[in-house]
Amino acid sequence: MKNPDREQKSFSYCLHSFGCKSNAYESEAIGQFYAGQGGREVQTNAQADIIVFNTCTVTAEAGRKARQALRRARKEAPEACLVVMGCYSQLEADEGLADFWAGTDGRLALAQEALASYKANQGLGSPARNIGQASQAGPQKAQAYEELGQLAQQKETRAQIKIADGCNQHCTYCAIRLARGPLRSRDREDILAEARQLLAAGHRELVLTATNITAFEADKGRDSLALAELLAALADLPGLGRLRLGSLEPQAISQDLVAALGKNPKLCPHFHISLQSGSDKILKLMGRGHSQADYRAIVEALRQHFPNPAITTDIMVGFPGESEEDFQASYDFAREIAFARIHIFRYSPRPHTPAARLPQLEEAVKKDRADRLEALAQELAASNAAKYLGREVEVILEQPLGPESLVQAQKGEDSLAFSGYTAHYLPAQVFFSKQDSGSQGQQGQLWWAQVEDLAGELLICRPLDLIGSPLPA
Ligand code: SF4
Repeated sequence: MKNPDREQKSFSYCLHSFGCKSNAYESEAIGQFYAGQGGREVQTNAQADIIVFNTCTVTAEAGRKARQALRRARKEAPEACLVVMGCYSQLEADEGLADFWAGTDGRLALAQEALASYKANQGLGSPARNIGQASQAGPQKAQAYEELGQLAQQKETRAQIKIADGCNQHCTYCAIRLARGPLRSRDREDILAEARQLLAAGHRELVLTATNITAFEADKGRDSLALAELLAALADLPGLGRLRLGSLEPQAISQDLVAALGKNPKLCPHFHISLQSGSDKILKLMGRGHSQADYRAIVEALRQHFPNPAITTDIMVGFPGESEEDFQASYDFAREIAFARIHIFRYSPRPHTPAARLPQLEEAVKKDRADRLEALAQELAASNAAKYLGREVEVILEQPLGPESLVQAQKGEDSLAFSGYTAHYLPAQVFFSKQDSGSQGQQGQLWWAQVEDLAGELLICRPLDLIGSPLPA
């Protein structure tokens, strides 16, 4: 199908981002680059001249999804230029599906190369082909942070800011550290400049992301207080409603860091700290570098410095060598800590990792343990949400809701409703009754709201007051 735009040298691009917040951030950066080159973002492969895949390798399933998406794109857009980057393509070689293939470094250069080659091939009907990097799949060795440019705006209402890449830990199940390479922290001035731009564009919440956030600037010889300093500088920026931390690793969370975080007026009292296992035997086999007691001490410190912080986590079941007793230790510890939410992962052997060489547990055992832990996770999440009934919460209005939404069903047609998250990262729906002469909500605004009802973990809220200044026009 001849694309009329080709003649005018403009081009269209489609972004497929898999996995974590860092990948989502990087995909936005590639999109911003293409937009800056006159590109037009499209939502389907068939409409696209260039299709970018930012891949993930956290589980075998993530890799399978990337390959499947590539095959689909080749079928739906045979002339398009397929560009693959990210963690999966860092560790795995191309199987001849892609036109451009790179890993977790040199992504902007790859995007530029693909565009140049696409433009050189325009009208030739055949996609560009240059799969230079494919044969060099393997652990990332880059030593410098790849600055992808400061994002001026993002699609999501809550904007991500990447502050570092890579990790110097050696968890035995983890392919991410191999794919992302050694810890490389981003320059603070670039982080602050990006934050100012995003706030000027109307984003009220900034979410910090990295492979290992708490290790920020450890590659520059700093301790975890470096993160607290960065957060304090961000908290002073005009227009900021709230700051949120992405997933945290417990190894570098010191008592001093928690005390410093407790003094930050804009930091959301929500801490996602991955536990992985509640059994010291398994934590050792995982090479996690901390014990159950260390984790408990962090949670106690957070509960001392924050009124009712939300603690959420990741727990892996079925790690090689995990006995029923070890699983029970995770289960009992999860109940003791009363996590507000638990992401449950069944252990998935990853290539090139030490744990993949150990005797593996049956999938049925992993499924049984995941199901039992899921039941506990739902019980804990529901009792956590129940604490908010009748209370006031802060919610960012993220998505306008349609008539199919729960709140609309409950509150009827004459209400305007939005979904969003509270500071404690609980999902909420806020409804503005159209009769209410007060101001109506707008996407992106931060509001105080009253929790009037619950639906499982979902808070049904009525607006009280707008927080901070209205959004820029
Ligand atoms: S802390 Fe462990 S699990 Fe997390 S990225 Fe580093 S090596 Fe992987």
